[in-house]
This record gives sequence, structure tokens and C-alpha cells, in this order.
Amino acid sequence: MSSCPPVIWWIRRDLRLHDNPALKAALEHGGPVLPVYILDPQEEALGAAPKFRLGRGLEHFQQVLEELGSRLILRRGAAAAVLEKLCEETGAKMVVWSRLYDPEAIARDSEAKQLLKAQGIDAKSFGGRLLFEPWTVETKAGGMFKVYTPFWKSVRSRDVADLLPAPSSLPAPKAWPRSEALADWALDAGMSRGGDVVARFCHVGETAALNRLSDFLEQRVDAYKERRDFPAEDATSGLSENLAWGEISAHRTWHQARAAMQRGGQGAETFLKELVWREFAYHLLYHSPHILTRSWRDEWGQFPWRKEDRNNWAAWQRGQTGYDFVDAAMRELYVTGRMHNRARMIVASFLTKHLMIHWKCGMDWFAQTLVDWDPASNAMGWQWVAGCGPDASPFFRIFNPDGQLQKFDAKGVYTSRWIAEGQSAPPEEALAFFDAVPRSWNLTPDMARATPVISLQHGRERALAAYQNMRNAG
Ligand SMILES: Cc1cc2nc3c(=O)[nH]c(=O)nc-3n(C[C@H](O)[C@H](O)[C@H](O)COP(=O)(O)OP(=O)(O)OC[C@H]3O[C@@H](n4cnc5c(N)ncnc54)[C@H](O)[C@@H]3O)c2cc1C
Repeated sequence: MSSCPPVIWWIRRDLRLHDNPALKAALEHGGPVLPVYILDPQEEALGAAPKFRLGRGLEHFQQVLEELGSRLILRRGAAAAVLEKLCEETGAKMVVWSRLYDPEAIARDSEAKQLLKAQGIDAKSFGGRLLFEPWTVETKAGGMFKVYTPFWKSVRSRDVADLLPAPSSLPAPKAWPRSEALADWALDAGMSRGGDVVARFCHVGETAALNRLSDFLEQRVDAYKERRDFPAEDATSGLSENLAWGEISAHRTWHQARAAMQRGGQGAETFLKELVWREFAYHLLYHSPHILTRSWRDEWGQFPWRKEDRNNWAAWQRGQTGYDFVDAAMRELYVTGRMHNRARMIVASFLTKHLMIHWKCGMDWFAQTLVDWDPASNAMGWQWVAGCGPDASPFFRIFNPDGQLQKFDAKGVYTSRWIAEGQSAPPEEALAFFDAVPRSWNLTPDMARATPVISLQHGRERALAAYQNMRNAG
């Protein structure tokens, strides 16, 4: 047994053993490692589905650690104070963690670092969430990138850190500090009836994630470029859920996809580009944190969002707009906690353009309902579609949900999978929606199909006129 004091490995969105620089540092320290998860006010404030998925991830990771002869210590409270107390209780002289990049997490972590350092504790943060720390990528003039393509060009040939092995055991302390019980945290409480339904679609944990990546690169990556936009197909990696919770590293995903590309995998480069969209989102978030709270382009502060439109808002949330692509996608979201990327673009465009409802409402709803919720990708995605973000899709490019259906789901496979009404024998997924939604919504599979909440032409013209007025006024 080592005589070194223990080191606290403060686990956040990095529920994995491989490629974990913070864990590596903890092990190198030489003393017993205390894995700790803190449910602090920021985690308490997570939306229903991410919080539920966090609970699943923690439950799984507890087992993983136990198999290594370790434990996951759970504590609740303000992170800095909890860490200070734990150091006092255990005699730990070092605390390590993987960085997060949203402004609230940065403020919390800086406070924790300051407080711990003032007590003589060595507090260190590490990369590991991203391929490239956001401040290490800059334009030739030394500024941030606001457009994706030059960002991609500047990083595509950069070295990505080598992979770190997962340890086969973690040194344990003589006595474990007290832990709270995960069940007492009731992280699934916000899901009400939906938890059991969504759980069926989750792929939790590091092993599931690594298998998913290998399976994708062996079976599907070649067709990725051509098929990734077809929502009924299993053509994408499905890794966002695992990347969001750090159950797989972006590094491993990158290295394995590069190897597939060198073997001649045609879609692998397109896949790498998608992974770099995630990096770009974090680059934007780090350099312009207001992407989370207001339109990135100032002139959009004047856009006349329709705040009062309660009925259309409810119809959108509930998959009752009368437009099959939108309704199928919103149900997929409610049942699986995920939504195909093409579908995310279509529902976001319909909400912000045809219905002219603020992108922040949509962003917040996704933050409640996505198990792969990621603050950076979600904010960038919404601002991109709405037209108010950096490198945004031009506002006048308004997706026609029916035209998109013809293009990407011509045989109606996706819509039949998710919309039960009108089918004599609806599939399980379509019926699961009615088990997941709150009873107060009063939805049943034998109801009539919703009729369109707005004509596509009227919605389009109204949005374009509002946009033109905003530009004329600016
Ligand atoms: C309005 C809107 C909101 C979104 N919200 C989120 C979110 O909260 N969390 C989230 O992870 N993604 C979000 N995305 C991005 C994207 O839809 C998902 O990452 C993707 O659908 C995940 O499926 P996949 O893992 O099979 O992706 P793949 O196609 O297999 O791509 C591999 C990985 O690349 C990254 N990626 C792919 N596309 C994007 C993209 N457009 N932006 C950023 N990263 C991308 C993801 O990490 C993804 O797992 C959003 C997109 C839009 C338009």
C-alpha cells in the first residue's frame, strides 16, 4: 500500500477510463485514487433527459470502477466546498479533472481551483473532451474562427494527441470516504413516464461506445457520405450520446476514423469533418459564450419572434404540426432522446421560420429532451438553422418539410416508424410515443392525424417579410 496521500479524480462529463489525461495524472501521482462525482447546482439544473442519461451513465460507471477494485464517491453540493471538505476528510493533496468550456463551468472550476490552491492543494485541470483546446486554434491574424471551412482546414492536418490506455486497476485507499446513494438523487425524476421508454434506446458506457465506433467504421462508414442524410437508415455513428457524456474520447474517434480513411474508407473524411463541427461548436462557445443566451448577430435582437404563439409551440413540441417530417422527428426525440441530424435541421427551421418562434425556445426544449444534449452543439445548431449565428445558413433558405420528405424519406419509412395515427398496425416505436408523453397531453394512437398548423407558403412569406423588415431597419 502506497504511503502517498490520496488524489481526488473529480469526474464530470468524462465517464471513461481510456484516453483520460486527468485519470492518467491521478495515477502518476502514485497514491490511492478517489473517483468522485459531485451533483452541484449546475448538474442539478440539467434538463430532464440529460439528467436521466447522466444517472444511467453514473450507474454504469460505478460498476466499471467496482470491477477495478475502486468506487465512485457521490456527493451533492457546491463543487468547491465539497472538494475542500473531501480533501480535509481524506488527506488528499491533489485534485484533477477534465476541462469543460461553458461559462458557468469555467467560473465554477476557477473558483474550485482558487479555493483548493489557497488550502495548499494541487488542483489541476486537463484536456480530454476536445481534440484541440479552443484557444490553440486561431486565424492567421490571431483571432477566433467564425466560419467552419477555414477552421476545418486549419485543424485537419494537425497532430492529435496519442491514445492513452485504460488502467487495469485503480489503487484504493485504506478506508473509503462516505458516499451518497445514486438512487437518492432521483436523476430520472423529471422523465416521469418517459424514462423507461427512452432507456430502451440508450447505449450506455465506454464498452458500448467503443463497440459502436468499431461497428460503424467496419460496416457503415463507406456509405456515410451518401446515406447520412436519410433519417430512416442506420447510416451514422450514433456516437453523440457517448461523446456528450465522455464515454468515448474524441481522440479515439478521430484516430480510428483516420485509420479507416487511410484504408480507403470513402466516408471517413466526411465523418471526420462532422467530428470537427463539434470542435467548431466549442471554439465558438469558448470565444463567444453569448452564443448560449442571445443571437450571435446583434441585428437579430430586433427580429419579431412570435412569443404569444402557445398553440403552435405546443403542436411543435408534441409532434402535432400536421407536417409528417416535423411530427415524426419530434416523436423520435421524445421516444429515443435523440433525433437524426437532418430532422434536427428541419424541425428547427420549421419552428424558427414557418412558426417564427424564438430559436431559444427550441434550444431549451432540446436541452430538456436530448440524451446527447451538448451545450455547444445545441446552441450552434439552433443559431445556424435560425440564421442568426456565425457561419449560419442564410435566413432565406427555408426548408420545406414536405420537399425534404420527398428527398430523404420518399417511401415514408421514417414517418411510418414514428407516426401511429392512420396506421392499422403501427410499429412499436410509433406506439411507444404514447407511453412516453405526459397523460395531460391527451394523445392516443387512434386520434385523427393533426391538420397543418400553418400553410407552408404563408409561413415562408411571413418569415421572409419579417427578415426583410429587420434588414431594412438595420
Ligand atoms: C438544432 C440542432 C441541435 C443540435 N443539438 C445537438 C446536441 O445537443 N448535441 C449533439 O451532440 N449534437 C447536436 N446537434 C448536432 C447533430 O445533429 C448531432 O451531433 C448528430 O445528429 C448526432 O448523431 P451521430 O452521433 O449519429 O452523428 P454522426 O453523423 O455519426 O457524426 C459523428 C459526430 O460528429 C459530431 N457532429 C455531427 N454533426 C454535428 C453538428 N452538426 N454539429 C456538431 N457536432 C456534430 C457529433 O459529435 C457526432 O456524434 C444539433 C444539430 C442541430 C441542427
